[in-house]
Amino acid sequence: MNAEEKIALLDTLHFDNRFVRELPADPESDKHPRQVLGACYSRVQPAHVARPQCVAYSKDMAARLDLPPYVCESDYFTRIFSGNRLAAGMEPYATCYGGHQFGQWAGQLGDGRVINLGEVINRKGERWTLQLKGAGPTPYSRRADGLAVLRSSVREFLCSEAMHHLGIPTTRALSLILTGEKVLRDMFYDGNPQNEPGAIVCRVSPSFTRFGSFEIFSARGDLDLLRKLVDYTIRTDFPHLGEPSPEVYSAWFHEVCLSTAALVVHWQRVGFVHGVMNTDNMSILGLTIDYGPYGWLENYDPAWTPNTTDAAGRRYRFGNQPQIAFWNLAQLANAIYPLLEQVEPLQQGLALYRDSFALGWQAMMADKLGLARFNPATDDDLVSELLTLLHLAEMDMILFYRKLAQIDAASANKLNDEALLAPLLEACYTELRENLKIRLVKWLKSYLERIRQDETPAEVRRDKMNAVNPKYVLRNYLAQLATDQAEQGDFSMIENLLELLRRPYDEQPEQEKFAVKRPDWARHRPGCSMLSCSS
Ligand code: AMP
Ligand code: MG
Repeated sequence: MNAEEKIALLDTLHFDNRFVRELPADPESDKHPRQVLGACYSRVQPAHVARPQCVAYSKDMAARLDLPPYVCESDYFTRIFSGNRLAAGMEPYATCYGGHQFGQWAGQLGDGRVINLGEVINRKGERWTLQLKGAGPTPYSRRADGLAVLRSSVREFLCSEAMHHLGIPTTRALSLILTGEKVLRDMFYDGNPQNEPGAIVCRVSPSFTRFGSFEIFSARGDLDLLRKLVDYTIRTDFPHLGEPSPEVYSAWFHEVCLSTAALVVHWQRVGFVHGVMNTDNMSILGLTIDYGPYGWLENYDPAWTPNTTDAAGRRYRFGNQPQIAFWNLAQLANAIYPLLEQVEPLQQGLALYRDSFALGWQAMMADKLGLARFNPATDDDLVSELLTLLHLAEMDMILFYRKLAQIDAASANKLNDEALLAPLLEACYTELRENLKIRLVKWLKSYLERIRQDETPAEVRRDKMNAVNPKYVLRNYLAQLATDQAEQGDFSMIENLLELLRRPYDEQPEQEKFAVKRPDWARHRPGCSMLSCSS
């Protein structure tokens, strides 16, 4: 196939740009920062970049968009997904939204460095919005530059695809492109700005609408626009609920509460800490969205957050995520209240969140431990003692559950305490005190006793546990190493991680080096355990 034909393929993607067609546009067309009133979006062109270079693309996401590899490997693809050229049917725009940041209403935020390209309908009839993150200023850029750097783009690109393969609802990533330009960033806001390579990720999702997309119109008292966006969202993304009405608004809110609960259960299952659960970073579809200073628990610690910007209050620490999601849903409830003028359905939604999270969390913990079902009478204590011990023992959460799955309840009887504990100790970051070892053995014995009650065959239990306890996650230091190498022009580690993380639950013996404890050097290294919102 020649270059002309490759071009033709990208230009034959079927765009159906419903968002811009059906919702009110900003009448002004320049991109100077300003309050945009009475509109859901502003039309804006991506900035031209100097020397775009494709670092990586996701074959899985490309296939979902019906794009074969030879198209993604063409120069034309790089030009389009760097923002240097528009394919036929693209109508670029940035959306207006607001949000509560760290518990405070922050007013208008909006797509400050995201430019949407349009909505592709694939051969299966699925609707996918494409957007470029880091494609230059928009009316929502406030005082910032609209750009993104390589380190944060590598993290977003790899983690969105990794989350998808973990079975966790998420926005996706199609491509990661270097712009060939430098971007100035003060990584820790400490007066040490550095020039970093600029990059652009093409993100993909059925919808990028956030809780904050509704909050902004409600806060401004623009109920007409609020209703338009809610009705649009229901018709486009929740069509099974039927034509919008007060009853349908309630049903919609209930569904958002349920999908948010399911999402947070997933995060707690794999030890994912989002890091900035502001309401502008909460997807109306219950997807993980906006990968910023997120991190993965290594030594289990409910108080941990990777986000240094949140170090003082630790609002977004791992153990607080369920409460924060609830708080965010309450802000959404406040925002849509004027459409319902009834408090009860909204309160019911919040109660639904609370109950379904609690039940979902119990079922998830039962799965992680290989129990047939969660029995509060015995398992409340079993789980709470385990979580205390994981914390005290500085246990690597990912390694622990995989090693636990290996222990066979039948033959464990024949082992002395030391032999019983040995495999689990390999997952610890510290030397354990004797009393902690005794407590762990005691827990392990009660766990094995509990397992025997279920009479689940050992291999069945192990396979069930391994299906929910990943072996491979994007450990914080791995993304940093991949970035370090990419900054030197070597993209192979990004490629390797992308491939590795497509099968996170499978044993991949040749990749064992990626399933080990965080090395000591990474414990306090910036980018590995400490991240800020600077990206
Ligand atoms: P975040 O904390 O990444 O969710 O971003 C919060 C808000 O700041 C959003 O409205 C972003 O679009 C905006 N923002 C973050 N970084 C930049 C940047 N470099 N340029 C313009 N806007 C930005
Ligand atoms: Mg955001």
